[in-house]
Amino acid sequence: MKKFSGKGVYGAIAIGKVTVFKRQEASVRRTHVDDTAAELLRVENAKALATEQLSAIYEKALKEVGETHAQIFEIHMMMLEDDDYNESIRNIIETQSVNSEYAVAVTSDNFAEMFASMDDAYMQARSADVKDISNRLIACLSGGEESKGSSDDKMIVCADDLAPSETVSLDKDRVLAFVTAFGSSNSHTAILASNMNIPAVISVGEEFISEIKDGDRLIVDGHTGEVIVDPDDETVSEYTEKQQADTKKKALLQELKGKENITKDGRSVKIYANIGGVDGIGAVLANDAGGIGLFRSEFLYLESEDYPTEEQQFAAYRKVLESMAGKKVIIRTLDIGADKQIDYFKLDKEDNPALGFRAVRICLTRPEIFRTQLRALYRASAFGELGIMFPMITSVNEVEQCLTICEQVKRELEDEDIPFSDNVEIGIMIETPAAAVISDKLAPLVDFFSVGTNDLTQYTLACDRQNAKLEKFVDTHHEAVLRLIEMSAKNAHENGAWIGICGELAADTALTETFLRLGIDELSVSAPYVLALREKVRSLDLSAEKK
Ligand code: PEP
Ligand code: MG
Repeated sequence: MKKFSGKGVYGAIAIGKVTVFKRQEASVRRTHVDDTAAELLRVENAKALATEQLSAIYEKALKEVGETHAQIFEIHMMMLEDDDYNESIRNIIETQSVNSEYAVAVTSDNFAEMFASMDDAYMQARSADVKDISNRLIACLSGGEESKGSSDDKMIVCADDLAPSETVSLDKDRVLAFVTAFGSSNSHTAILASNMNIPAVISVGEEFISEIKDGDRLIVDGHTGEVIVDPDDETVSEYTEKQQADTKKKALLQELKGKENITKDGRSVKIYANIGGVDGIGAVLANDAGGIGLFRSEFLYLESEDYPTEEQQFAAYRKVLESMAGKKVIIRTLDIGADKQIDYFKLDKEDNPALGFRAVRICLTRPEIFRTQLRALYRASAFGELGIMFPMITSVNEVEQCLTICEQVKRELEDEDIPFSDNVEIGIMIETPAAAVISDKLAPLVDFFSVGTNDLTQYTLACDRQNAKLEKFVDTHHEAVLRLIEMSAKNAHENGAWIGICGELAADTALTETFLRLGIDELSVSAPYVLALREKVRSLDLSAEKK
């Protein structure tokens, strides 16, 4: 028995036998050709065949993982038509009088390397996509078949890495789990695996793949990222029990996927999910959230060594918007300070950081940082349904300043002929008592409120949320907090705005009925809570007297 550990990308357990994924690696030789025009024609024919195959994979993916994830194969088809990619192949054939396979292989290496060297994790992950389409093109040049797993039994597919098309091409009914030696959770393969509801662990390391062989017994724990090769009987029965408990719990909630968030008496509420970065999208989609109610954008800054550039931010926001395929994505502008400190901001040490220089206060003092973020956000707005919200608001003046900067950024983009959406909703977080109390003045300025109950509770009850000693003084259901939410909801609705809750309290099912009675329009929670919250909403009957 030997244990390996990697990163779980879909939380479930599988016990079964290994099938090592066999790829038909096209070995490419460089040969001289006299008739370059004929080579160019071969490329065109191979491209047509590759497009045909990709379109079949797209249809399969559409059925198995849904439109959002199937889109990667549309992107692959577009990549095959990319001007730079094709020009590079053509140039190599024409200037070096070489065979098409060689020209495609060199182009693939160059493009893959270029993507891999980019700073942005999303763009780095595209390196695998270029290799994927290029391998397909090379296989098509020799009229090749697509690669497949080998055995007929149910299998745990183990590979160095899997390309998205390879993942989807496998027979879902026969795959118990995926384990890959490499790969990132940002990759489409990881996202696809999690959306196929297949336990998957990635990045277990090279040693794993060199040790296992077809037929080895394996346990894959997608919750912990643990992979056990050749487990003893005791371990197998321990994991079998875990697996059964897991399956039971999930099956009950899975039945709610695709169902509406609607009470027995017909009141519906939006249930969205919170993310901290691009790699949270898989869980959002796997749990069938209706949108993203809070993208804590500061994580982009926290994970970076220096201020993330406009391009880096744009790529991340765009990726989230595209992945959500037209569903709402609310991105909160930078909220650092207090418990989230970043060295390169060089913020002064403060005696009371929670009451200090944080969030929108930093943005309005250092507008160059704010502008960069807003430019990236508006540019990304052309790719989906964006909402932008500002944290830690306490006054009308702060909101007006934010709106002025938004207008300036939009004018700038217009002057530069850069497209952005006209339908970006603007909201503010209600996370200070001040904002709730003057919510009648704030609501006319915005499209929505989102209540940050974590901070609203800390500021209302004067209890530092970081101080563990205060836990017994923090009544999360405190009437003062609930009254502030009630006041904000009433003022939002009277002024044509909608209101959501994105703090942890949104997931507290003991309060779901209260929130719905207050008229809350949206609840945004950590992705794993989405279905449990849906279950709660569907069990309520607001026409009955409140218990
Ligand atoms: C909140 O304060 O409730 C909130 C959602 O923001 P954060 O937890 O990031 O401060
Ligand atoms: Mg907050």
